Amino acid sequence: MSAWIKKRGNGIAYYTLEKWSDAGADMAFSTRAGGCSTGAFADANLGLHVEDDPERVILNREKFLANFRLELGQAVCCRQVHGDSIIRVDKQQQGRGAFFYDTSLPDCDGFVTDHPGVALLTFYADCVPVYLFDPRRRTIAMVHSGWKGTMQRIGEKAVSAMESEYGSQAGDLWAAIGPGIGGCCFEISSSLAEEVKINFAGYENILQIRTERCYWDLPATIQQMLQQKGVRAENIDTCSLCTACHAELFFSYRRDQGITGRMGALLSLRY
Ligand SMILES: [Zn+2]
Repeated sequence: MSAWIKKRGNGIAYYTLEKWSDAGADMAFSTRAGGCSTGAFADANLGLHVEDDPERVILNREKFLANFRLELGQAVCCRQVHGDSIIRVDKQQQGRGAFFYDTSLPDCDGFVTDHPGVALLTFYADCVPVYLFDPRRRTIAMVHSGWKGTMQRIGEKAVSAMESEYGSQAGDLWAAIGPGIGGCCFEISSSLAEEVKINFAGYENILQIRTERCYWDLPATIQQMLQQKGVRAENIDTCSLCTACHAELFFSYRRDQGITGRMGALLSLRY
């Protein structure tokens, strides 16, 4: 059962897990509803690296973060290169990529921190955000897991990063898997399907054949990967919403054929 709920604040609609906020970590995934962007980027595009007006993007970002009493200058953004590098950040990196894409942290797809008020912020149009929270040690991680990142097991590597950087134990971690393209819509080539079968041998119900086409369920793959790494099933909240199915809620790179906006995934420890 997913505990993700939809809320709206400062005009921006977003999905969140309230039990995370109650335990000390604000987390959310924005929708496209409620911002000031127009055209293919309407309404709440949060991506600065697309052809949208940067002033509108910054306003959308500020409104989204204000729902959690965060300022955009507290955010840390990375370039998201579909790799598997995860870096440790603190207050020194605050503001990187927040106002200018060029200042994003280079060559990485995720971060870990133990600093309250550092807002981890990543961007999506079909790829899947993975959030991790250690309520005992008060540390967090967030990674961008598209199909390439999933093949490289970036979700599992985020657990490893929390273990090595902060002494977390996988059994203590909470995980959230946000909205992304679902097994309903993510068609892949038969050659990639063969690689998926080998890479994730023993995983259940991650590939489907329908009308001679192959479909891959990324969220289900990430969930099983986290469980295999020691995260307890009852501590994983997977959002079942598909970004490609819901045009009114989400931007989708695949559905919109590349010209589209980005939703934001936010994770920040409370003071
Ligand atoms: Zn779908």
